[in-house]
Amino acid sequence: MGKLIKETDTKDRDAILAAIGLGKQFATALVARLLAFARDESNTRPTSRVKILGTEGVSVQLASCCHPIPGDSICGYMRKGQGMTVHRKDCHHVARGRETEPERWTSIGWKDENNQQALFTVPVDLVVTQERAALASIATELARFGSSIIGLAVEDGKRSDESPTLHLTIQIRNRAHLKEVLGNLSQLPTVKSVYRLLDGDRKRDYSV
Ligand SMILES: [Zn+2]
Repeated sequence: MGKLIKETDTKDRDAILAAIGLGKQFATALVARLLAFARDESNTRPTSRVKILGTEGVSVQLASCCHPIPGDSICGYMRKGQGMTVHRKDCHHVARGRETEPERWTSIGWKDENNQQALFTVPVDLVVTQERAALASIATELARFGSSIIGLAVEDGKRSDESPTLHLTIQIRNRAHLKEVLGNLSQLPTVKSVYRLLDGDRKRDYSV
């Protein structure tokens, strides 16, 4: 958001919202910029903050297909001379990759998985009753639990009687934190259901 404020030469977040309301800025264009920033950030995140057993001195990257977080079962793929990419063990790339290049894959584990200070990027889908009202209460709830939104896209229901879906990218410390955050989001009156996106089309329901 800070980058967007700078780039659009506006004063603050409220000024951006006002500009959207007045038709001076297009919401979809701004969301696209926010998503691009989020992508850049997740690609350039300092990998040394990711603590994984047995990878000292190796450059470690988290795979963008399955977004592993501490607490997930994980597998490492040794890239040719460029360190290791970490996938969730149930990512479809792992099963396929282990067949074709078994020598490059290894089971690994998080170091100190409940006490890492880094925040990890997790894509989630929320089916909501009304996107504006929902987004406000979701952002408040996330802040309460030490998380925040770094990417956002809204998908309207296909038919007029269908609920919109918010595609959010949020910051999470570990699996326990994710469960707490998503469980609380699912209890908001404006939220119908909550999913963590896995890889491909797979998602896990966190609605309670
Ligand atoms: Zn993966």
